[in-house]
Amino acid sequence: MECAICGRQASTICIRCRRPICENCLDKTWYLCRECASLKWEIEADYHRRLNYLENVYSVSKEKAKIAQCKNCIILRELLISVLKLLREILDEARKEGFDEVERRARKLELKITNLLLPILIRQGIAFIDRNKGFIR
Ligand SMILES: [Zn+2]
Ligand SMILES: [Zn+2]
Repeated sequence: MECAICGRQASTICIRCRRPICENCLDKTWYLCRECASLKWEIEADYHRRLNYLENVYSVSKEKAKIAQCKNCIILRELLISVLKLLREILDEARKEGFDEVERRARKLELKITNLLLPILIRQGIAFIDRNKGFIR
């Protein structure tokens, strides 16, 4: 069989498109033909871009959380909760796709966001109870 990309002697089959491919046209990281592999690399790069945005959201939120007023802010709380949800989706997809580095970064960020969010939740929970007791703030 000839390689579907370059016409040389094929040695394997791409597990995604099922075309016969040669050693030269095989991407050894993914065991895909180089055309399918380039798509895979693009998707991985997109995950890294999304993680960059989320890391930026974390940095901004961390600064905001230092301000007493912002610790009571519902938007900050909801923002962090929604970032956590998104990170969990990314983690699931990264695991399925075998994007180890994406998974590692997402886990690290998940931990940081959780650590930032917990005191805010506790603080806002307490504020809520205080309001119910009728304290004026
Ligand atoms: Zn080839
Ligand atoms: Zn392929």
